[in-house]
Amino acid sequence: MHYQISIADTQNHFLQLTYTIPHIHQDSIEVQLPAWRPGRYELQNFAKNVRCFNVFDEKGNAIAYRKLTKDRWQIDTKGISSVKISYQYYSNQPDAGACFVDENYLYINPVHCFMYTEGRADEGYTLDFLLPDDYQIATQMKQAGKHQLEAPNFDYLADSPLFASNALQHHTFTVEQTQMHIWFQGEHPFDIERLVKDTTDYTLKQIEVFGDLPCSDYHFLYLMHKTPARHGVEHLDSTVIAMGQTLEQTTEEYYHDLLAISSHELFHLWNIKRIRPNDMLPYDFTKENYSTLGYVYEGVTTYYGDLMLLQSGVWNWEQYAASFTGDLKRHTSNPGRFNYSVAESSWDTWLDGYVPGVTGRKVSIYIEGMIAAVIADITIIKNSNGKYSLHNVLHDLYQQYYKHNKGYDETIYRELLEKYAGESFESYFQSFIWGKGKLQKGLETALDEVGCALREDINANLTLIKLDETSALQKQLFAKWTNIAE
Ligand SMILES: [Zn+2]
Repeated sequence: MHYQISIADTQNHFLQLTYTIPHIHQDSIEVQLPAWRPGRYELQNFAKNVRCFNVFDEKGNAIAYRKLTKDRWQIDTKGISSVKISYQYYSNQPDAGACFVDENYLYINPVHCFMYTEGRADEGYTLDFLLPDDYQIATQMKQAGKHQLEAPNFDYLADSPLFASNALQHHTFTVEQTQMHIWFQGEHPFDIERLVKDTTDYTLKQIEVFGDLPCSDYHFLYLMHKTPARHGVEHLDSTVIAMGQTLEQTTEEYYHDLLAISSHELFHLWNIKRIRPNDMLPYDFTKENYSTLGYVYEGVTTYYGDLMLLQSGVWNWEQYAASFTGDLKRHTSNPGRFNYSVAESSWDTWLDGYVPGVTGRKVSIYIEGMIAAVIADITIIKNSNGKYSLHNVLHDLYQQYYKHNKGYDETIYRELLEKYAGESFESYFQSFIWGKGKLQKGLETALDEVGCALREDINANLTLIKLDETSALQKQLFAKWTNIAE
């Protein structure tokens, strides 16, 4: 499969794409553009950004086609062995999960604008870019030549965002066997030496959880904005993080916000890009991939993003508690917590997961999933007297499921929790995963085991605090939970 990509119009933000499909042996073929992208579990209908769609045979004659769905085309190929599909894609959304082109840079998430041919998604892709000579490309894809990339199949291509410009800033370092890359498109105020050290520290802590870092190269693609932005999207061997400082933020707070989002996205390298619910194995790009397990792939990741910064010493307890307190505020200010469970809210991300939605209808797989993860972690730590934690559950999901090409489901997750907690998690799933309004009480009970509590202020906001007087056991369990020795 071959793609040629060029910039059609920087002012109006259009890419020009030409998809060549060789070796056709049927009377008709079907090509599909994805309807959604992994990481955001809602339909986005990328075909609405396509214009000037035309199909030609090898001699350049236009050939007939028709649409079968909003984003699937059937092309008549009787007597034709190769076709070229030419179209333009509107690229004017510089968030961490989309496409953007202007006179300064090109930024593509291929899942938006590249197609696959039905029955041939496993074939390799070669991408040739027509770019200014001094442009460099940053991506997890193999660089086969100057401005030429290769992907082994459509899934990998769809999962491989790229930046191209003549102003990319590139820094590399190694963590264990992996070459780490930090790329910046746009200006930033950060101290690179410090960023490399902190990134190394939290990465090593994450490796400790799972046992290994399964990629030869990993890329942090930072897209820096002059206006406020805060968005990250995970990929197999990379992440895109779009950041812009708010007026209220000091540069120090901005830096730690960058670390928080980066640690979260790196954790997804294992939890969702490799450890995957059966519901999304493989991804079906044509329609909704419903799952109730958002509390694992986003909730556990939200919890661990911060926890890894704390356990690696990149953050101190005060920084961790402040971030936790911010999450609690989102929980207590959402009346939906009394009306809908986190598992049901996960299913419904396809309906209204990324908009505020009707007041009091639903909760967040990120926030309520994070609270459920804290409760599970501390329960395991307490029951095993500090021998085990939620780390062991994640380690098993990675080593015993992902590495054996298996996904997981609720039963598998629950059995692993029970294995390390040494007790039934029936009431946990009833109350915190499928239940409503019970998370705060469950969290308070769990935090008490590690000598912590939620303090309510006059505005009814909850703050995570460490109690002054704690028992020897509470001190020991707190040390296990946080990796902070007394
Ligand atoms: Zn996430």
